[in-house]
Amino acid sequence: MTEKRENLMDKITSLAKRRGFVFPGSEIYGGLANTWDYGPVGVELKNNIKQAWWKMFVQDREDIVGLDAAILMNSNVWQASGHTAGFNDSLVDCKKCRARLRADHLVEDNLDIKVEGKSLKEITEIIRDNNLKCSACGKSDFTEARKFNLMFKTYQGVVEEDNAIIYLRPETAQAMFVNFKNVMSSTHKKIPFGIAQAGKSFRNEITPGNFIFRTIEFEQMELEYFIKEENWQKQFEYWQNEMIKWLDYLGIKKENYSIREHDKEELSHYSKKTIDIEYNFPFGVKELYGLAYRGNFDLTQHQKHSKQNMEYFDTEDNKKYIPHVIEPTFGVDRTFLAAMVDAYTEEEAPTADGKTETRVVMKFNKNIAPVKVAILPLSKKENLSKYAKEIFDSLKTEFTCQYDESQSIGKRYRRQDEIGTPYCVTVDFESLEDDAVTVRDRDTMKQERVKVGELVEWLREAF
Ligand code: ATP
Repeated sequence: MTEKRENLMDKITSLAKRRGFVFPGSEIYGGLANTWDYGPVGVELKNNIKQAWWKMFVQDREDIVGLDAAILMNSNVWQASGHTAGFNDSLVDCKKCRARLRADHLVEDNLDIKVEGKSLKEITEIIRDNNLKCSACGKSDFTEARKFNLMFKTYQGVVEEDNAIIYLRPETAQAMFVNFKNVMSSTHKKIPFGIAQAGKSFRNEITPGNFIFRTIEFEQMELEYFIKEENWQKQFEYWQNEMIKWLDYLGIKKENYSIREHDKEELSHYSKKTIDIEYNFPFGVKELYGLAYRGNFDLTQHQKHSKQNMEYFDTEDNKKYIPHVIEPTFGVDRTFLAAMVDAYTEEEAPTADGKTETRVVMKFNKNIAPVKVAILPLSKKENLSKYAKEIFDSLKTEFTCQYDESQSIGKRYRRQDEIGTPYCVTVDFESLEDDAVTVRDRDTMKQERVKVGELVEWLREAF
């Protein structure tokens, strides 16, 4: 990692706190590892991402329906899915400083080796043979690698007995399989069709998370697309393209992401093909999204464990079968982080007194920018505030607006640049005479005088 890229992460984390994108979780109590809170600006950006995803993948399509299932599910779900037995990561303890590290991360962050599919013995040997160092203390003296289940346990009811153990879901996907029959019988969908869900998932991650990249509580947007087995390759390709279209919609630069196919060792035993869409984060090239062909493993497992029939009757072919599945999965928080990294720009800009200064501007794609328009009266004088608030009221139903009259106009522009507001509408005393305002473009900093009566139409065209 170059020093410059390392700095970039610090700059983004500090901007995120300063401007209300993301705060450290439980900060006044010293924090809670790998938790973060989304602030006033962050929640707007996050909601824009989630709403756009829902529109693109559910509302704009006639072949996909939505679901909002309970986070807590019957424990048998996780038996059937394999999470109770197999949702394990290998970990090692540093004997010197007692830090607990994920062995796969220790290896993959330092060597060009994927550990998926390798035995604990092999992982232990790789760590020893390569003299890998503890990220906390720099020493290389580790315990043998061992397994650790990532699911958060809790208890239902008042008695903490074994049979009352339930888990916070580690992924949203299983609810789509569990509800397959309910959705089929309530919607009469024909294959191919999909069920989508966006919501919280929980994993007991122990590795330092790189800001919001890896957290113990995060949001996923997933969809299970049910298909006929023979069409899997065609559908896989199709969904890969749809995922790229989504990245285009977000405005993520093409040079910043790439596709990596899992090799045989890395593939889950039920998957014939899985790819990761990876993003070039400042701390390395890492998984942003995944796309997996899961065969009909999940529905078959749920049929076996629940004893409920999961077959689909295909009226075209006049036969019954358990559908196969293509699963595109998107992390909300990683999308947020990629959007922040992609948008972060430093550039030289002229100041009012003819000098230049470094301007920090978040060049978000306009469609996901947290605030679309800022209304900035040049002074707090009552008649100007009243006029500016009327403009705010006329825009707020269509555009997410922010009204700001504190501090100098230069400082306010700087704040809006740092939260990536595409347009600032400045209201001055002349506005009271000529019913016009100055609209400033975030990227070009060009200013244009626009009649107040034409402002809504002007902005509609600009977005
Ligand atoms: P990783 O290898 O980085 O742990 P994964 O392969 O376990 O990720 P999946 O199980 O495929 O991840 O989860 C689907 C998506 O959910 C990921 O592509 C990512 O965007 C998101 N995600 C997974 N774990 C986390 C986490 N701990 N924090 C934030 N997002 C996550």
